[in-house]
Amino acid sequence: MNAPTTFQFTPERQREVVAALRKLLPEGCVLYSEEDTRPYECDGLAAYRQLPMVVALPENEVQVAAVLQTCRRLAVPIVPRGAGTGLSGGAMPIADGVVLSTARLNKILKLDPYSRTAVVQPGVRNLAISEAAHPHGLYYAPDPSSQIACTIGGNVAENSGGVHCLKYGLTVHNVLRVRMVTIEGEVVELGSGALDAPGLDLLAVFIGSEGMLGVVTEVTVKLVPKPQVARVIMASFDDVVKGGNAVANVIAAGIIPAGLEMMDKTSSRMVEPFVKAGYDTDAEAILLCESDGTPDEVEEEIARMSEVLKDSGATAIAVSCNEAERQKFWSGRKNAFPAAGRISPDYYCMDGTIPRKYLAEVLTRITQMESKYGLRCANVFHAGDGNLHPLILFDANQEGEFHRAEQFGADILELCVEVGGTITGEHGVGIEKINSMCVQFAPQERDAFFAVKRAFDTAFLLNPDKAIPTLHRCAEYGKMHVKRGEMKFADLPRF
Ligand SMILES: Cc1cc2nc3c(=O)[nH]c(=O)nc-3n(C[C@H](O)[C@H](O)[C@H](O)COP(=O)(O)OP(=O)(O)OC[C@H]3O[C@@H](n4cnc5c(N)ncnc54)[C@H](O)[C@@H]3O)c2cc1C
Repeated sequence: MNAPTTFQFTPERQREVVAALRKLLPEGCVLYSEEDTRPYECDGLAAYRQLPMVVALPENEVQVAAVLQTCRRLAVPIVPRGAGTGLSGGAMPIADGVVLSTARLNKILKLDPYSRTAVVQPGVRNLAISEAAHPHGLYYAPDPSSQIACTIGGNVAENSGGVHCLKYGLTVHNVLRVRMVTIEGEVVELGSGALDAPGLDLLAVFIGSEGMLGVVTEVTVKLVPKPQVARVIMASFDDVVKGGNAVANVIAAGIIPAGLEMMDKTSSRMVEPFVKAGYDTDAEAILLCESDGTPDEVEEEIARMSEVLKDSGATAIAVSCNEAERQKFWSGRKNAFPAAGRISPDYYCMDGTIPRKYLAEVLTRITQMESKYGLRCANVFHAGDGNLHPLILFDANQEGEFHRAEQFGADILELCVEVGGTITGEHGVGIEKINSMCVQFAPQERDAFFAVKRAFDTAFLLNPDKAIPTLHRCAEYGKMHVKRGEMKFADLPRF
């Protein structure tokens, strides 16, 4: 099934759309000059850029609905946008489309410490929820490393994760209810204030749908009590394989740490001069394993984890003594992406997930790919979830390097699928991984995804050409559906 994309940018078309939107939105909320729209040309995946025809900045739900209705009537494609920190090009504009930013819907509408919930508008920053909940001894658990900037609307659209999601779950496990506006301008509530809602679980369908099904206008999130104590172990390994196996061993011992992250030597050497966290820069791999709870629980869990890590071959173990030291240990992990800029002009952040037992094998094969592509790769990731974030380092000014980085990334994702994993863990598919969807899913599966999209968005106007590839695209990419090597390219049409 092919998604229709029949739109054309012309100055007349732009004038028509601007005039229609200006009737709906206050002064200054419709941007169309190049100078004003330039900041919206990309998200965190800055290698892909496109100026939008128009940017709409509604300030409330009624205006969001009006913008959507008008775009539907005029057949203008819409790209919803939060803070633009996404790493897969999900918020990248379309030349003949409208970027609909929900950044100005940024109020916390209600915070109820008794039901431990907060009702927030989509433009509220992730960290702002925890800051507001702090006086009540509560916080919002999913904590993407971008939490200082990213919005809850974007988190819902991407089903974002973070360091603490191993124990506390992803966005989908921490959201009770979403209010969203359909392309027809109808306001729909999914989920409920309770733990379950009658009918089909459309909330779970919607979370992670990358702006393709509707525009989020309100989110009810769960808040959890702040643990009395949290401490983190920093363990060094002289071999990445031992580090990878240690992760599997911790989980196999029946421990669910509050965070279990891994950094390879390239990563720790990249961040240490920047954060001075005391990382062992001679270690081939460092694990950060956090425990939280009551002081007794934490003491016991730290002792058990230390034992497993030692048995797995850790060469050194340090445990944070106080909150300041805990923050210091985490600072390098949290700042790893920006720190990449210290050692490379550009980096390309991949995001794939694998069964934990394959961590060591996959890391070894990524190292082999470094020689194949002549590019370095730093690995810093949510090891406990098996969620890899290889940072491929390149210089876009060197002829062909970006192309090689893209191929390197696609190869890593194919490897993830080969070992039974997936092509994304938390950053979404967007435009970046759309070709890799051809590797993971058969045509029938992709048709089913299109059918879900069509059920919400009959005209294919919401974030079209993102996340789900057409059959034609997969055929052009020349690869389809690899599952543990069994059906390699069996369904590739011979054009
Ligand atoms: C340094 C850095 C670290 C990061 N670390 C993590 C991490 O640890 N974990 C993680 O999961 N991600 C991480 N990310 C990725 C990113 O921050 C998340 O995907 C985040 O959820 C995006 O939120 P946003 O508000 O910036 O959304 P945007 O980038 O603006 O949009 C993301 C997607 O959501 C859609 N969207 C946005 N708002 C709405 C809305 N109101 N209604 C419907 N659709 C909408 C867009 O169309 C797009 O498809 C990181 C990014 C950076 C730059």
